[in-house]
Order: sequence, then structure tokens, then C-alpha cells
Amino acid sequence: MSPYIYLDHAATTPMKKEVMEEMLPYFTEQYANPSAIYEFAVKSKDAMDTARKNIAATLGVKPQEIYFTSGGTESDNWAILKTAEALKTKGNHIITSKIEHHAVLHTLGYMESIGYEVTYLDVDKQGRINLKELEDAIRKETILITIMTANNEIGTIQPIRQIGRIAKERGVLFHTDGVQAYGHIPIFLPEYSVDLFSASGHKFYGPKGIGFLYVKENTPISSLLKGGGQERKLRAGTENVASIVGMGKAAKLVHQRLGYERMRETNLRNYFMNRILREINDVKINGSLKNRLCNNINLTFSGVEGEALLIMLDSEDICVATGSACNSKESTPSHVLLAIGLSEEEAYSTIRITIGETTQKKDLDQTVEALKLSVANLRKKS
Ligand code: PLP
Repeated sequence: MSPYIYLDHAATTPMKKEVMEEMLPYFTEQYANPSAIYEFAVKSKDAMDTARKNIAATLGVKPQEIYFTSGGTESDNWAILKTAEALKTKGNHIITSKIEHHAVLHTLGYMESIGYEVTYLDVDKQGRINLKELEDAIRKETILITIMTANNEIGTIQPIRQIGRIAKERGVLFHTDGVQAYGHIPIFLPEYSVDLFSASGHKFYGPKGIGFLYVKENTPISSLLKGGGQERKLRAGTENVASIVGMGKAAKLVHQRLGYERMRETNLRNYFMNRILREINDVKINGSLKNRLCNNINLTFSGVEGEALLIMLDSEDICVATGSACNSKESTPSHVLLAIGLSEEEAYSTIRITIGETTQKKDLDQTVEALKLSVANLRKKS
């Protein structure tokens, strides 16, 4: 039993024991390189194919449209860099939103440095893009729209279906970063007109350092890495068989209980938010209440330093985040919170709580009590 109350599932999720058990033989017993052609190796390849099939089934797509990568960052980089390159004779314009993860924003920053033009769409107070602004931003040079399915800081879910429809009507490719959404909300890709979809194993109770990119058949894209001909010549490098097997198992398990778990987490989240709003003054919930991941709670406590609050909760063995996991060591205010209209001071007074499969009501009750004390103490000091 972990001594911690872990409330940072958007940063990473605990890997399930069943996932580890499924992976273990692929380290020391079934270790053959799946590219070899003897029977021993065919077993590794078959295990990868099963994982591919399991993942494809959860999204309603063909197994051969799933490509294994090292995680969400690689999937995002690959989707953007290599479709844009393949389409460079058609145009040089890409559309995104201001609240994307840095795996997308920093890739696009690089694209600008090599001559591409990028439009960064504003979002409203809830963190949603405006579809009319998206339509107006499309021009004849537009080759790609990349807008995340759900945000990692405030949990806001974008109107993916409508974005896909607009992209399809205008003949523009659509990539969505589904890293926070996959395994947390049902996603049936054929309904969404999505061409490319990124996901990451460690966000849905699988291993770290493994992910996948869905690439719709006939999408113009080339390999990001130069090397061998793995993954049908689109992703070079010996496959991480154990992690692929683990991710496939995690995908299956998380989807088996998705309906139940979403309901359970939504109830827990609402219970927690209501208690916080009732029992602590001057608190604000950020992001959409309607279009929101069931596990995300993002709170601004006015007059309280978010980092100081995190440290006080940490001393009670409660793990929360101040911004996104990937920029938690930086002390710049979150670009997502600024984009939804928070002041710098408010952004610095914000914490993110993300619950998961192991979170129980008693954990949240304990967290409310710890928050009440910590917020009162910090407000007294300021
Ligand atoms: N995209 C989003 C929305 C994320 O939240 C993250 C990680 O937090 C990533 C991409 C990067 O994924 P990975 O950690 O697998 O590289």
C-alpha cells in the first residue's frame, strides 16, 4: 500500500500489476527481436500484433493504422513535422491553439524557425476554441490543424467532432494530441474525421516511455527517425516489445472499465469540488464544468502561493501539481491559465488535482481537511 495520497494522475498513472505480469516474460524469456524471422522471434512479433489489435479496437480503427512510438512527445513531433514536410509543396500554414502541450507548441516554434507560419487560436474562459475563428483562419496554404482532444492542466475537452468536420470539408489534415483523453473518455476515431491521434502509455496505467500514433491510411507522412524498416518503414528502431505488450494490456483493461470509472470519478470529482467551494473562501474552479475530463480539478486559491500549498500538502504525503508535469520545475506562469484569462498572480495561486482509479472518497476527505488548514495558514502569513 502506498503511503501517499496520489492526486497527480495527469502527470502519470500507476502501472497496473496485471500489466507488469504481462510484460515480464518479454524481458528475460521471450526476448527475441521481432524483426528476425525464426519462430522464436515470430512470437515477439505476434505479441506486438495483439497489442496493436487491442489498441486499434478501442479506437475503432485498423491495426495497421497504429504505429508504436516512445510516447506522447514523439507522437506529437512526428505527426506535425513529417506531415508538414510531406505537404510542403501544398502550403506552409498550420493552425493550433494557445493551450497545447509543449510537445506541440515547441515543435511548432521550431517549424516557424524553418519558414512555416502558425496561427495560434485563442480559447475562451473555459479553454475551448471558437469554431468560427478556426474556419476563418483556414487559408489555401493551410496544411494541418493540430488541436488537443483534452487539456492536461484544466481538463477541458475540445469540440473534436466539429473540428474534424471543418478540417475534412476544407481538405486540411487534422492531428489531435489525445494523450490526456485516451483511456479517460470514449474515443471512436472514424466518427471524428481525425487523421492523426497521439497517445502515451503511462497516462492510462501502462508503462512510461511508450506510446502510439494513429495514422489514417493514405495520410502523407514519412519516418521521423532514420534507420531500419520497422513499423512498416515508418518508425525506425528495434521495438520496445515488453512495453508495447504492456501498453496493449493497459489499453484493454482501461477500456473494459471506462464507463464505470468515468461515472465513479465524475461523482468523486463533483463531491470534492462542492466541498472545497462550500468550505473554503475565495476559491475558483478553472476550465469548463461541462466539457471536462472526469478526473481533473484545477483550483485558484486567492492570496495563496500554489507552490507553498503544494509543499504543505506534500508534508502530509498528498501529491498534487501546480502546472503541467512537464513544466513543474519552471517558475513561469502556466501558458494555459494565462490563455483562459487568469492574471499572473492567479496563475501562481493555482493547483491541479487529478484523481484516478485508486482514488477513494476518504483520500479526498483527507485532502479537503489538509487544504482547509494549509490555505488558512498561508493566508494568515501573507
Ligand atoms: N501531450 C499532453 C497533452 C501531455 O499531457 C503530455 C505529458 O504530460 C505529453 C503530450 C507528452 O507525453 P509523454 O510524457 O508520453 O512524452
